[in-house]
Amino acid sequence: MADLSKIASLCKRRGFIFQSSEIYGSLGSVWDYGPIGVELKNNVKNAWWKSMVYERDDIEGLDAAILMHPEVWKTSGHVTGFKDLLVDCKDCKKRFRIDQLKSKKCPECGGELTDARAFNLMFKTFMGSVEQEADEVYLRPETAQGIFVNFKNVSIASRRKLPFGVAQIGKAFRNEITTGNFTFRSREFEQMELEYFTRPDESEKWFKYWVDERFQWYLRFGIKKENIRLREHAKEELAHYAKCCYDIEFNFPFAWAELEGIANRTDFDLKQHSKVSGKDLGFFDEETKKEIVPHVIEPSGGVDRAVLAFLTDAYREETVRKDKRVVLGLHKALAPIKAAVLPLLKNRPEVVGMAREIYKDLRGSYKVSYDDTASIGRLYRRQDEIGTLYCITVDVESLTDKKVTVRDRDTMKQERISIDKLKQYIDNKIK
Ligand SMILES: [Zn+2]
Repeated sequence: MADLSKIASLCKRRGFIFQSSEIYGSLGSVWDYGPIGVELKNNVKNAWWKSMVYERDDIEGLDAAILMHPEVWKTSGHVTGFKDLLVDCKDCKKRFRIDQLKSKKCPECGGELTDARAFNLMFKTFMGSVEQEADEVYLRPETAQGIFVNFKNVSIASRRKLPFGVAQIGKAFRNEITTGNFTFRSREFEQMELEYFTRPDESEKWFKYWVDERFQWYLRFGIKKENIRLREHAKEELAHYAKCCYDIEFNFPFAWAELEGIANRTDFDLKQHSKVSGKDLGFFDEETKKEIVPHVIEPSGGVDRAVLAFLTDAYREETVRKDKRVVLGLHKALAPIKAAVLPLLKNRPEVVGMAREIYKDLRGSYKVSYDDTASIGRLYRRQDEIGTLYCITVDVESLTDKKVTVRDRDTMKQERISIDKLKQYIDNKIK
């Protein structure tokens, strides 16, 4: 597996991921996705959305706002409970989370530490034109609450019966103190969350179901078996709302670490919101003719972490005829660019014209690129490095036999394909 610096350098060089505001010295642990990165990220999100919303009949989608009524976060427990205990070193002034310290001295310089202070991880901002306490709002630290406060709206609008789920992809923000490991722990990040509402007595069954379902999802999109595992949370690790939690962990270059958490949040959130808002968030169960408050199973994945895991897992270096080639063996659904059109002779107008026509014909259905700025060997390496599935070369012979050469990223095998059958050929391959 690649080390993290190799991945980070590839990401910058080829336009996957840049540091935020880099020309101003960058903003700590905030990241921008470049031209290739945004394709990969969108593909990861689309793969999740398809599996969750399109391929099933028990899940609806939602896109709630980032800003919410401040009462939401008091009720959810985030204002009082979402805190890290921090200490400062009196000598070097560095700040540490107390749960990550091994001794009572500064791990950096051995200096004396201050008493612990609680630090809330939510970002605050102001709503309206006057900066006063009453106008204070938070940037959401999780997307889940947007689903809970809309539970009634969604269930009525879609006439749902239990069990059913609501899926959402969106940004969340946490003012993390310990950051680092590239995009792994970012202050602004994106979540893919499902809240699955069940009858109370069926929550255990559905919890097990979703742990397995989500684990299989990563395998389905190409993560190698040996790089992924399940870990059950110990009681003292559980979040304030959770009864039980499993992490799906990935073998990142720096450590095994959380890719996705699946939690049994019980009826904690709906009950709390019901109590504080005064609105009934119960559910009339047709089967038992009783009003019940559903329990919630929550598979919560990080989009940025998934992108980093797919990148790391797919990265490989090979030797081809004494040359090194770097390949991103990404799953076909995730590969940022599906095909690249490469004219072999850029000073032959007929060849270039033909290549341009093919490029125009293919793009629109999926992301295709066109490149004539180097020798064919270099062009292949460039495409391999970003995981492009097929390279299509147009040469002088193409002018007479109306065929092009299609090269497969993984096998490097080349096939001669009729131009009029090319679109069909690529379509079939990537479906
Ligand atoms: Zn120190």
